[in-house]
Amino acid sequence: MLLDPQLPEVAFVGRSNVGKSSLLNALVGRRIAKISGTPGKTRALNVFLIDDSHYFLDLPGYGYARAGKAQLIAFRALVKYALQRERLRGVVWLLDIRHPPSSDDRAMQDALAEGETHVLAALTKGDKLSTEQRRARERELRGDLELPEDQVVVTSAKTGEGIVDLKEAIAGLISGVPQ
Ligand code: GDP
Repeated sequence: MLLDPQLPEVAFVGRSNVGKSSLLNALVGRRIAKISGTPGKTRALNVFLIDDSHYFLDLPGYGYARAGKAQLIAFRALVKYALQRERLRGVVWLLDIRHPPSSDDRAMQDALAEGETHVLAALTKGDKLSTEQRRARERELRGDLELPEDQVVVTSAKTGEGIVDLKEAIAGLISGVPQ
């Protein structure tokens, strides 16, 4: 898929129900312009042009209980394809702050490591925990995922927590300069 104009790309991945649509809405609000998607297929790759300066690639949520084998194979191929795109600057990987990484999350972690992809982990639904619990879970997940502090952002689409931080971190990915 050749996107025109060619611009930097950032992909969004996470388990279904992790809060990806909500976070994307919180990040881009009404500036979002959906420019592709396959009608009739719920598990396609959606592309959004943001501020005429970069693209967000929204991959289907994974770990869907009723996904069949063919769907799984197609999903893996889609991830591989997205991670190999020439203009991909990095991936925002969404994880529910309340839960330990699932086996599907671990498979994603392996794919990200294999592609040597720049990763930002967005821990979602931060509002569901107290401030103290949030800090503890953030630390735990950072250790679990072996990610440094500047690559992990606690977010809440509900309260707006972490949205500005995540935007800045994404800008850093796009420019290639850590913010
Ligand atoms: P997706 O399947 O990953 O796109 O997830 P959605 O954005 O559709 O969200 C799944 C569910 O989680 C919905 O019921 C949302 O209302 C809820 N949700 C998403 N983000 C948040 C959040 O930041 N806080 C809370 N409390 N609920 C959220």
